[in-house]
Amino acid sequence: MPTPSAQVLSSVVVVGAGLAGAQTAAALRKHGFEGRVTVLGAEGLPPYDRPPLSKELLKRTEPVWLSDDLGVDLPALVDDLRLADPAVRLEVDRERVVVRTASGDDVVADAVVLASGSEPVRPAGWDSAVTLHTAADAERLRAALVPGMRLVVVGAGWIGAEVAGVAAGAGARVTVVEAGPVPLERQLGRRVGSLLAPWYDAAGVTLVTDVAVDQVLPGSHEGSPDGARVTLADGRVLEADLVLAAVGARPASGWLAGSLPREANGGLRVNRAGRFMGVRHPTDPAGRLHLDALRRVWVVGDLATREHPVFGAVPGGHWSAALHDPDVTVRALLGLDERAAEPEHVRARLGLAPIPAHAPYVFSQQLAHDLALFGVPSPFDEVVLRGDPAASGGWAALYLENALDRHPRRTPDGHRVVTVRAALLVDSPREVGQVRKLMNRDEPLRLDLTRSLDPTIKLKDAVV
Ligand SMILES: Cc1cc2nc3c(=O)[nH]c(=O)nc-3n(C[C@H](O)[C@H](O)[C@H](O)COP(=O)(O)OP(=O)(O)OC[C@H]3O[C@@H](n4cnc5c(N)ncnc54)[C@H](O)[C@@H]3O)c2cc1C
Repeated sequence: MPTPSAQVLSSVVVVGAGLAGAQTAAALRKHGFEGRVTVLGAEGLPPYDRPPLSKELLKRTEPVWLSDDLGVDLPALVDDLRLADPAVRLEVDRERVVVRTASGDDVVADAVVLASGSEPVRPAGWDSAVTLHTAADAERLRAALVPGMRLVVVGAGWIGAEVAGVAAGAGARVTVVEAGPVPLERQLGRRVGSLLAPWYDAAGVTLVTDVAVDQVLPGSHEGSPDGARVTLADGRVLEADLVLAAVGARPASGWLAGSLPREANGGLRVNRAGRFMGVRHPTDPAGRLHLDALRRVWVVGDLATREHPVFGAVPGGHWSAALHDPDVTVRALLGLDERAAEPEHVRARLGLAPIPAHAPYVFSQQLAHDLALFGVPSPFDEVVLRGDPAASGGWAALYLENALDRHPRRTPDGHRVVTVRAALLVDSPREVGQVRKLMNRDEPLRLDLTRSLDPTIKLKDAVV
């Protein structure tokens, strides 16, 4: 029986008008889909780019529209564009999908592409804190950042560090409170995080680590609408004019509760093609969906936990995935490449062109430094440094798998052969293109360790 993807589709509804949703609509038209396309958004704005919201908070006072940046002009691409009518419920059966919108409409289509992205985490009771995820959030934050104001940022993650640097540069008095022992510990591990800690002081930001925030309360002046008080677990109290909660993001999938089985983090598990796989909890009513129904559901961008040939199941949160993956997904959805989820060796045997394997990629400009991270570091990796973080100029951290392998492979020179799970480049713009190429493959990167640690040797010349 042909899958819905192979049948002729006459309508697709895309939920989410961010980067992944816009790229999906563009790919549908690029690949010749002439049927009806509906796009539902929640912000009332055309698609724009999020990374500049923190990195260029003060430099760019207008959103970076994707129509200018990528040439994706949604109104010209889609039949029905509703930028302020979010989806509130999804029903899928063997024949169709129905998306109920906030205004009470039912959008009926042959397939749905879910691209509702992520949302910032705001711990319960932190009503006095702001978050940074949307253009509206950025506008509010920008307006508050005047010289001398006191900003407390909770969380020394990617966004916390970026905003702290920008705010301090604008003359704000910035304190960052981090529950872990070092910045970005969860993302980069303790050793590398400790190398980033001095950047805060150098940028004029006070970094407080190893203490959790207990409460964020309204300001001390009764009746004052402004200001907040941050109480720490060790009893300290920080007075602030503004508190930014930068404690992470999670998939914006609450509206799918009861419709589809979700991962513990709220993400939706998809195969390499972006087709929904979530049949893992048969006890959940949503987990009992018929296979033909599930085949009508595709997921892209931050909402997806997507299978990668090297890194396994990769949760969303990567701009580059939202940019690139919709094309593969749309080709599979339209039946142009029905074997998109097959491993490359199977595809090669079938005479199919390889699918580009983009390594998870995060870039960051924080506290006067540039970071590029390719791959997925794990706390179990061995970390080695290429170059000297204390010297001026760039350096890199390589995260090596199989650190416990007692009998590592050796090169003919007797050098240890290592498998790289992730590479962090710091202030090394010239290495970014090269490392991207090395990491964007469908097999793990193996290096001669001795050569890879010598910054005078190009990393590509250390490949085994
Ligand atoms: C401040 C900031 C800085 C960032 N910097 C970087 C960076 O440097 N590098 C990097 O790799 N990534 C970065 N990211 C993450 C990156 O922006 C995301 O990975 C990317 O935007 C994901 O695109 P998306 O389309 O999946 O989701 P989103 O961009 O979140 O878009 C989803 C859209 O769907 C809408 N929506 C939600 N629910 C519904 C619903 N029920 N119905 C209809 N619409 C809905 C949302 O309002 C949103 O407009 C940053 C994110 C932020 C917030």
